[in-house]
Amino acid sequence: SVILLAGGKGLRMGSTLPKQYMLLKGKTVSEHSFDVFLRIREIQEVIVVCGEDRCAIFKRSNCQKRIAFALPGKRRQDSVFQGLQKVSKDIEYVCIHDSARPCLSENFVRDVITAAKSCGAAALGLPLKFTVKEVEALGMVKRTLKRENIWEVQTPQVLSLSLLQRGFAKAKKENLTVTDDVSLAELMGSAVQLIKGSSKNIKITTPEDLIVVDRLLDLESNTVGQTK
Ligand code: C5P
Repeated sequence: SVILLAGGKGLRMGSTLPKQYMLLKGKTVSEHSFDVFLRIREIQEVIVVCGEDRCAIFKRSNCQKRIAFALPGKRRQDSVFQGLQKVSKDIEYVCIHDSARPCLSENFVRDVITAAKSCGAAALGLPLKFTVKEVEALGMVKRTLKRENIWEVQTPQVLSLSLLQRGFAKAKKENLTVTDDVSLAELMGSAVQLIKGSSKNIKITTPEDLIVVDRLLDLESNTVGQTK
């Protein structure tokens, strides 16, 4: 089951239209990854977390998969929890994706699913390219982190349904906020594997990101054209 998160307000974009509903190559940002998930055979259903007024965007004629909807929550993790309530009973693994990441490729989704099947939880990520410093007030540097051991984490993230449910129960009981999904596996002391993703899997956050993603999609369609 896929939970596609499209319920954020995208405040950092400085626009009244949330970033996941901006148009990119003739369709909304959210539809790019939604359509990738619809093409993957192993995926049985897609639960879209979005406002009621956005559901029509995700209607497809002749769709073989179950498409369901859930209303967003206050925090990202609340939206995931809302989506989780709509997952079918027979599902073993849940794949969560930020719809603000439109440059998703089918192979990466499959790689994360395979890793989660062997270790319980997995996510796409990338070793850091830059130096990271911990700072205090007024930007005063406290220390420099060891870059070799630090990855940025992307989505999709895949967890077994049971691990996700147990992680949420613990987070609720202890009133914890998590900013990604495999953190729930970490809370349970379970193993999490990161799979090297791509720097193209950008999360659109600011207006500049939209320009970069638009160009990346141009390059991709040109490459596809050349290899045919
Ligand atoms: O705000 P941020 O970029 O971290 O959001 C990541 C993804 O989660 C976005 O696709 C956004 O639409 C979604 N989200 C949500 N519900 C929230 C907050 C974010 O569905 N309450």
